[in-house]
Amino acid sequence: MSTIIVRVALPRPVEDPFHYEVPPHLAGKVTRGSIVHVPFGKRTMTGVVVDLVESSPVPTRSIVALSEGPSLSRELVDLAQWTASYYQSPGGLLLRLALPPSGVSGKGPKFVLTESGRQALEKGQSLHREILETLKRGPRTTTMLTERFDSAQLEAGVSEGLVAPALSPAPTNTIPSSSYRREEIPVGKLTLPQEEALSRISDGVSGERFEVILLKGVTGSGKTEVYLRAALHTIGLGKRVLLLVPEISLTPLLVSRLEGVAAGEVATLHSGMSDAERTNSWEAVRRGQAKLVVGVRSGVFAPIPNLGLIIVDEEHDTSFRQEDTPSYNARDVAVKRGQLEKVPVVLGSATPSFESWYNASEGKYHLALLPHRVTPAADPDLLLIDMSDPAQTDFDYPALSVALRDELTGVIERGEQAMLFLNRRGLAPFLLCPDCRHTVPCPNCSVTLTYHANRKAVCHYCGHKQDPPDQCPDCGSRKLGPVGTGTQGVEKGLKELFPGVAVDRLDRDALGKKGALEGIYRRMDSGETTILVGTQMLAKGHDFPNVTLAGILSAEQALDLPDFRSGERTFQIITQVAGRAGRGERPGKVVIQTFTPDHYAITTALSGDHEAFYSAEIETRRILGYPPFGRMGRIILDGANEEKVTSAAFTLTGQLPTRKDNRILGPAPAPLVKIRNRYRWHILVLTKNHRELVKILHAARKVDVPGVRVTTRVDPVQLL
Ligand code: ADP
Ligand code: ZN
Ligand code: ZN
Repeated sequence: MSTIIVRVALPRPVEDPFHYEVPPHLAGKVTRGSIVHVPFGKRTMTGVVVDLVESSPVPTRSIVALSEGPSLSRELVDLAQWTASYYQSPGGLLLRLALPPSGVSGKGPKFVLTESGRQALEKGQSLHREILETLKRGPRTTTMLTERFDSAQLEAGVSEGLVAPALSPAPTNTIPSSSYRREEIPVGKLTLPQEEALSRISDGVSGERFEVILLKGVTGSGKTEVYLRAALHTIGLGKRVLLLVPEISLTPLLVSRLEGVAAGEVATLHSGMSDAERTNSWEAVRRGQAKLVVGVRSGVFAPIPNLGLIIVDEEHDTSFRQEDTPSYNARDVAVKRGQLEKVPVVLGSATPSFESWYNASEGKYHLALLPHRVTPAADPDLLLIDMSDPAQTDFDYPALSVALRDELTGVIERGEQAMLFLNRRGLAPFLLCPDCRHTVPCPNCSVTLTYHANRKAVCHYCGHKQDPPDQCPDCGSRKLGPVGTGTQGVEKGLKELFPGVAVDRLDRDALGKKGALEGIYRRMDSGETTILVGTQMLAKGHDFPNVTLAGILSAEQALDLPDFRSGERTFQIITQVAGRAGRGERPGKVVIQTFTPDHYAITTALSGDHEAFYSAEIETRRILGYPPFGRMGRIILDGANEEKVTSAAFTLTGQLPTRKDNRILGPAPAPLVKIRNRYRWHILVLTKNHRELVKILHAARKVDVPGVRVTTRVDPVQLL
């Protein structure tokens, strides 16, 4: 009998899968999509069978065990392979996202003695005696066994049927409930635009038809209500729903609303869970117990049987893009998944990404508009403050304009609430010497250290922490001190300006302890907090009806970044933050502080004129050949030796197989030229089509310079 060989994708940063032999006792049971445990070096790893082949070019070892329970579907393996090829990412690392954490990074499956193993031991068989003796004392993990015994011995024990992987227990509690809840107010009739959007989606679900529906509506226009009803419709047909959100921990309200519609059938998948919790959720997902699966970007690979609908909320959010290996954009992978599974995909946003908007305007996506808020509140009043106006500035509190302080006073007097947004953590962004303009850089990175409330100077890229020098390292001046304001600085200033008023802060530094976020929400929801200061986390879809004032402290901040999407980001962030104010009965006000009041991203956001913004932006991109008019790739070179990296960047650029209609920008030092003591250069590649781009990036990865790492990215979002 000829042996069967399979190729198994393993969680290794390599392009190709590995060959393994199917042992006789697993013959016929191992298929494409099977989750298998295989020996790899001295360890055992979990991987996914991607295909069955005639023979292997290399000597092979045998599969140790087949994971019981359902395999991954053909569509899911296809999806991972498509993603690997499109983004030029390692397929095994992508497929790992479809597996539970314990099967990968944990200690592997547990093994037990089988009945024949027990008999063999009693009969005194000497073969594998030690391993059988060990297992007689109880189940052991793969790691433990392969540390003590040769993994070939384990393989042999398994293939002779003396040893077998233990059955994993069925999941117990499928729903890790959010501890934050609020009374659900039942919604009566949908508005006409909501009805239209819903029936379009529902028809697609019933007809098992792939279509992308771009659901565009301002915050409060009832998008979530449409998701919930579409989900109910899908579940009613016995199908399942996948909902992707940028960050689950930031949307406790959404999760509790979902539990309202599908109590006991919602599973969440995100990184804030323990391995055990995630494994539990994953089991509930792949066994079909979860009807509604809510996940962050990696959730796009969740093994959901009989999928009927995919929803991507806040589709413009850049956290759907995974920049690290394996890189992919979950929003775009979700669209591909919809196509493979023949289900509709809903992309929802108040400020759609440029790419999605373009696809809708080209007729590739169906545009469903929710033009108005459903709540009675009028559109908020917008107030643009030019920060270069001396009448607005106060030397002691440079981040807070006079106008904003007046508005805050009003909010406090009326017993309302305010949210202030500043995308910069810490007390102050710099330590600056006023005598020689010296700033204190991180010793490992090309950024300045941020001054934090604990009197430490901190690097936001590598985590380096130090006491601030008490005198200027350059000129010896003793006047070196913090300059500018971060979220901690705003919090401190507000507490001085408004003594006795409850000021709270939401940023990464405030979320150190478990439950911190729930606390911030609860205090906000109960009205205990009057002013909430925060980073972009604030802009993500919270609904606090008593918030009547939203402030953007530095609206031009994103514009300073060397990124062709900075205008888009600025437009989005202003629109999103503006949506925070006046969601309840009372009218809202938005104060936008900026040094560049005339920039088109700011003026169009202010007038709420998306069309004007998109048409201004589209001309720039058309002329420059930027996405969506061309394909963009990025080649990053990094290494410990600056000269080596620099010369490698020039050499590599000279070797790229480019054609006349391709454009190569660079090489140039990356905007962040040093991170963690590694020097970085980059090259941007613009091509007419994806195939050309892949060819060029592939050639770049083949260039081998000792001490220099070459990384490539397709459709990069992060250009720093
Ligand atoms: P979005 O997701 O666009 O921000 P939501 O779906 O959260 O909007 O709706 C905003 C608020 O309006 C919610 O409190 C929701 O319950 C309510 N709502 C939504 N649709 C309707 C409707 N048709 N009638 C009454 N209230 C609605
Ligand atoms: Zn100095
Ligand atoms: Zn650093």
